[in-house]
Amino acid sequence: MARVFNFSAGPSMLPESVLNRAAAEMLDYKGSGQSVMEMSHRSKVYEEIIFGAQELFREVLGVPDNYKIIFFQGGATLQFAGIPMNLLNGSGKADYVLSGQFSTNAYNEAKKYGDVKAVASSKDKTFSYIPEVKKEDLTPDADYFYICQNNTIYGTRFTELPDTNGVPLVADVSSCFLSEPMDVSKYGLIFGGAQKNVAPAGLTIVIVREDLIGNAGPDTPTVMDYKIMAENDSMKNTPPCWSIYICKLVLEWIKNLGGLSEIKARNEMKAKILYDFLDSSKMFHNPVNPKDRSMMNVTFVAPTDELNAQFVKAAAEAGFVNLKGHRSVGGMRASIYNAMPIEGVEKLVEFMKAFEAAN
Ligand SMILES: *Cc1c(COP(=O)(O)O)cnc(C)c1O
Repeated sequence: MARVFNFSAGPSMLPESVLNRAAAEMLDYKGSGQSVMEMSHRSKVYEEIIFGAQELFREVLGVPDNYKIIFFQGGATLQFAGIPMNLLNGSGKADYVLSGQFSTNAYNEAKKYGDVKAVASSKDKTFSYIPEVKKEDLTPDADYFYICQNNTIYGTRFTELPDTNGVPLVADVSSCFLSEPMDVSKYGLIFGGAQKNVAPAGLTIVIVREDLIGNAGPDTPTVMDYKIMAENDSMKNTPPCWSIYICKLVLEWIKNLGGLSEIKARNEMKAKILYDFLDSSKMFHNPVNPKDRSMMNVTFVAPTDELNAQFVKAAAEAGFVNLKGHRSVGGMRASIYNAMPIEGVEKLVEFMKAFEAAN
């Protein structure tokens, strides 16, 4: 059976070698006589997996010692509440940049827990650019400053981090996690759902500076309390065992390829192939501010809705699936996360050229 090139925004492709390894270990994980899905999370054999995944995360991403790496369930969306519950504990104020749907959702959720302010927004132009943050709009005593670093739906990203004047920066990195090296020390907290670039759905990773935890609000659920979860090695209750196992295999894959600088070089190459073609095309057009272009989610449109629909259909028939844009923006979107091979992008561009010539 031929595997398709899956351009889905998430859940998305996983490296084929990871899938093969998981398949080979499915019935009998390392002589345990069981699959990872079936084993106790309190067993020695599973502890090796979860601690191994955590250690590899620290190594591959270069997470400093004064940061905790915590595994949660509930998706990135549950952290939209988890973050204010845990961090909105000083002035009770926070600033949010609205650069797309996910940051807007995070802002609306945080409103339930404190005094949060939208300090910049790009809604006026359908979130097609990263809005500038004016110094005078910042809340000086805010508990944190929130951004969504890569905007999955609109295909934009922060290429530079905003100057927050010393306020801890919180970033949703769901769709750019492990896509390039990151200086974690510049953030108070980064978090992301796994299903875009790290593992299957079910796992959310929170990386948080130690001094920011330990003051969760009184109504915080036990399994959402960062301090309690960190003290219990992310196993206050049953963790998403299988997803953590795949996360470990993905981290091993990244490490064996040469780490995040090698991953970045590949991702830059893939994005360049696609954007260069879009810039030369007479039919397809990338609708975002060029300097804010995402390296992971590339949006494009043809001149008419009819052509968009025709393209998505023809592409799927040719083995390029999930290219339809998000329902809120239309057009197309190619998500080219770590596991998308360069060949997939090259072949997509060939297909787009042929489609353009024929139409
Ligand atoms: C997909 C996504 C989310 C939502 O993730 P869930 O795991 O479905 O809650 C949030 N933020 C960003 C940037 C995303 O790409």
